[in-house]
Amino acid sequence: MNDNSLRLIWVYPDLLSTYGDQGNALVVERRARQRGLAVERYDVRSDQPVPTGGDIYLIGGGEDRPQRLAAERLRRDGGLARAVGNGAIVFSVCAGYQILGNEFINDLGQREAGLGLLDVVSTRGEGSRCVGDVLADVDPQLGLPQLTGFENHQGITHIGPGARPFATVRTGNGNGTGDGTEGAWADNVFGTYMHGPVLARNPLIADLLIRLAMDTPQLPPLDDRWYEALRAERIAATTQPA
Ligand code: GLN
Repeated sequence: MNDNSLRLIWVYPDLLSTYGDQGNALVVERRARQRGLAVERYDVRSDQPVPTGGDIYLIGGGEDRPQRLAAERLRRDGGLARAVGNGAIVFSVCAGYQILGNEFINDLGQREAGLGLLDVVSTRGEGSRCVGDVLADVDPQLGLPQLTGFENHQGITHIGPGARPFATVRTGNGNGTGDGTEGAWADNVFGTYMHGPVLARNPLIADLLIRLAMDTPQLPPLDDRWYEALRAERIAATTQPA
């Protein structure tokens, strides 16, 4: 990060923003500004090069065909991979998560190469689509409270030795492998199946990304009463029968 200015890049809103993913960008932006940082946010369409000098990159969820187009363009562009090589932080959701991995099954039923930025491989689930509320305990190394989210995916994601589960589900499918894992992370690259948008429902993840960008262990706390109320409501709704 240069000075007190955070460069936030939202990757391909034209292809990967099916699930209110703009909310993730808004939350990072607002929480960084509330800590006195200047934020430069770039929304990079899929016909534009991905800048390599960003601090935090967000990449969202999408339907199967836009997901293939996004993967093709990101592979060809190479900017996201270069940014990760420069130490950038990437937070990805669902289709974006699958794209960051080594490969996934595309809309044509073919194996499609991902960007290889996270050691995961996604296949297509044979059973019903994973849809519904998620409650998950995040990897203790990340020091975050229980997460809430909503998942909607057909893909199943297997984590390789180069990555760790982002969380463990208490409710929901997460990676869909039946082992309770949800998402994956390694170094500065994170992936999750949780929508919500996930950073609006779990703003302390946004703070984690900002802390990593600033290379600081702690940020001044914010008034999170509204978020705490929402979290309590979602936990109650997810753990109690309707
Ligand atoms: N198309 C992918 C799947 O169904 C990702 C869906 C999503 O982003 N919600 O697995």
